[in-house]
Order: sequence, then C-alpha cells, then structure tokens
Amino acid sequence: MIQMKNTDKKIAIVSNYKQHSQELGQELMQKLRQEGFILTLKNPDIVISVGGDGMLLSAFHRFERQLDKVRFIGVHTGHLGFYTDYQSFELDELVENLKMDRGARVSYPILGVRVALENGDVYHMKALNESTFKRSDRTMVADVFINKVHFERFRGDGISISTPTGSTAYNKSLGGAVLHPSIEALQIAEMASLNNNIYRTLGSPIIVPKKDKIEIIPTRTDRHTITIDNRTYTHKNIEKVEYQIDHHKIHFVATPRHTSFWNRVKDAFIGDIEE
Ligand code: NAD
Repeated sequence: MIQMKNTDKKIAIVSNYKQHSQELGQELMQKLRQEGFILTLKNPDIVISVGGDGMLLSAFHRFERQLDKVRFIGVHTGHLGFYTDYQSFELDELVENLKMDRGARVSYPILGVRVALENGDVYHMKALNESTFKRSDRTMVADVFINKVHFERFRGDGISISTPTGSTAYNKSLGGAVLHPSIEALQIAEMASLNNNIYRTLGSPIIVPKKDKIEIIPTRTDRHTITIDNRTYTHKNIEKVEYQIDHHKIHFVATPRHTSFWNRVKDAFIGDIEE
C-alpha cells in the first residue's frame, strides 16, 4: 500500500452538464482544496465523477489511457447508480474518507475490443460495461468464433459482449446472467437471434473465461455499428471484431462506502421488500 499525504494526491473532478452536478462538483472542489488536495485534470491519481453511471463511463473513457495509475470514485446526483458510492449529501464523508485513504483499491476487469477493417486499419478500444455489434440497416449475419472454434453463424439484431460489472447493464436486459466481478470472464448475449429449422444459434448467454478470445466476422461488409458503453461507431468495411478481457483493469478507491457487489445488485433491482 502506498503512503500518501493529502498534498501528494492529485484529484480530478469531472461532472456532467446538469446544473446540480456542476454545483456539486464546485462544492467538492472547494472542500478538497481546503484540505490541501491538489485539484487537476492533468495526470490525476484519483478521478471523481459527479453525475450517474453514464458520467462514470465518460470519466473512464476520458482517462482510459491512464488506468494503471488512476483510481475512480463516483458521486451520484440522481438515483442510485452502479458505479457510484456517494450521494450528493455525503461530500463531507467523502472528503474524510479521502483524508484517510492510503491507496487501497478495488479492481474490476474491463473489455478489450479490436476492430479490423478490410483496408488494414485496426482500432483498439476498451469498454467498462459492454460492446455491442450490429448491422446498421438489416439483419446481421456473422460467424462467431470462440478461441478459434467456429461456434455458430448468428442471424439477428446483434451481439453484446459484456464485462462482469457491465453484466447488470444492457446484458441483463438481454437476458444475460449477473456475474460477480471477481470472476474474470466475459459474457456473450444474443440480441433477438433468428432461430428456426434453417438458422441456429445456442440461444442462451455464454460465459467466456479470461484469455479466451471471441471473434465476430460479418458475412457482409456493409455498414455495421459498434457500441462501446455510451459511444457508437459505424464502419462500412469491418473485417473482424475481436473481444478479450483487457490487460488493464479499472481501479476504484476502496473507501468504506464502496459497497459490496451483491448490495449494489440488491439495491438496484430488488430494494427492500416488506414482509
Ligand atoms: P445512461 O447513463 O442513461 O444509462 C442507462 C441506464 O443504465 C442508467 O439507469 C444507468 O444507471 C444504467 N447503468 C449503466 N451502467 C450500469 C451497470 N454497470 N449496471 C447497472 N446499470 C447500469 O445512458 P448511457 O450514458 O448511454 O449509458 C450507456 C449504458 O446504457 C450502456 O453501457 C448500456 O449498458 C446501457 N444501455 C442499456 C440498454 C438496455 O438495458 N436496454 C440499452 C442501451 C444501453
């Protein structure tokens, strides 16, 4: 564990466009400055996102080249979020916890995405929740390989590949399982696959272990859409998309408010049930 004084810690605060989040970000900045923390967007040690899960996703992408060094904290200004530990009225508690912070972190796997185009261009991206692959205008037809095994020819709306922390997001709406983030695995979930006596896919979500590579090769190279969390990319000439657990992880500050995964799942989807 790293021994750090407040004055050694560089903190970046990023807020969404909403007025409440902006004001809260300013208030937090003042409180942290008073305690001797350095506020900077350049090479921070800690990134605090103020908003919701969407803002934490944006903060992740803003600092995705510095993942090994940065630890994240989420403050939510709306309803309870999945990546957000503090509510807007808990800023003082957040500052106190940061004063006691000694560098402890909680780390979760992320998704590495490699997109190869027919012209030889290659793009590498990272996703915190998931990446989806769809044909833009018509039914997608694509061959799915898992570790070089031609697993199936998919026909349907598209395919989602999610991380364990993303398993509670889009993946869950697609009927995927909720996966504890200590399990380093990816999940493939189908989006409205065609299944009849001509077309056949497995039809159930698939959990793929660390190191296994998923490859999706469209049979046609017209316009396809790739989403990476809250971003969308469209290409005309995709040759292949590869998915694998990334070498990097996302790190969160392990403050006492960092609740257990099962608490988050319960709070988000079940709540308190009157007996
Ligand atoms: P957003 O910020 O409005 O997020 C959409 C909803 O997803 C919010 O309620 C947010 O709290 C929730 N969410 C985000 N990450 C989550 C997670 N890991 N676990 C549980 N809930 C989570 O919209 P956005 O900024 O465009 O966010 C993009 C995310 O929205 C995508 O990564 C995808 O997972 C999700 N999404 C879901 C659906 C769906 O469920 N049908 C469709 C599209 C996108």
